[in-house]
Amino acid sequence: MLDREKTAYRIDHVAIMDLPLRKVVYNLYEAASGRVGRPLSLEAAERMSEEADAGDFVFIVTGFPIPPKYLCETDGPPGASVLASVAREIGLRPVFVTDKPCEPVVRAVADESPIELIPRDHSEAEREAERLFSKYDPSIVVAIERPGWNVKREYHTMRGYNISRVVGKTDYLFEAAGERGVLTVGVGDGGNELGLGLLVEEVGRTVPYGERCQCPCGGGIAAATRADVLVVAGTSNWGAYAIASMLALVEGVKYGHDGKREVELLERVIGAGGIDGVTGEPTPTVDGIPTSVDRLVVDLIRTIAGLDEL
Ligand SMILES: [Zn+2]
Repeated sequence: MLDREKTAYRIDHVAIMDLPLRKVVYNLYEAASGRVGRPLSLEAAERMSEEADAGDFVFIVTGFPIPPKYLCETDGPPGASVLASVAREIGLRPVFVTDKPCEPVVRAVADESPIELIPRDHSEAEREAERLFSKYDPSIVVAIERPGWNVKREYHTMRGYNISRVVGKTDYLFEAAGERGVLTVGVGDGGNELGLGLLVEEVGRTVPYGERCQCPCGGGIAAATRADVLVVAGTSNWGAYAIASMLALVEGVKYGHDGKREVELLERVIGAGGIDGVTGEPTPTVDGIPTSVDRLVVDLIRTIAGLDEL
């Protein structure tokens, strides 16, 4: 095994730790990695590296609004922020894409990058996706913990509730990317996230509400839209850090996201109105995982990435 592949294997195994105790992530990981036959973080990083040239725009789509108040959860935007940092480091130009409910939180972590919003109305969203492709001509679209529609084009929480009324229809960005042959990457931890359509059968079979949701649509929560490359992790933030650290390694730049910066990022998210997606509390925790544990995982990913000398 190449050293880089060993590093990616270790990073994947840290990133898929099932600390939220959902009991589904290992099945999804096995299904996803079995299809490509190599660590998911390496597959994503190398495909992104091949696809993008310096100066290119990259869409980073994130933000999951949680009912009843539809506040943005803490999983997603920090991962998007860290991946954007590495993208900038290698000369790419990230553009954050989200929707109205998640705008304040995404803005809090976007640093100098532009932010675009996709409307909740289907035809408006489709038009806006087309407009954004004309405006930026991105070479990659990455979705990190972003709601993904099911076979009926309805959006759900992990608990099976329908949130289509408020969610910006960002699946149209993946449709536009598919029509143009633009690389798509999907990062998720439960099966209802944009890009996880490749696992629709596994999610239906193994994830609660996967096949049958708690709304009358009858489609289940399993996301239907497929990304070209899929990364599954214990939290989607960790999946994004796994990609970001491997992308840094592949491109020969330093990967700097550590536990201290993780806490700072989470504080920014909470300050902008974010909440933990599992507990619903405005605390710097992710999917119910205490900050003290989350920051250790972040440090572990960074340390492992640093073992492979640049
Ligand atoms: Zn439904």
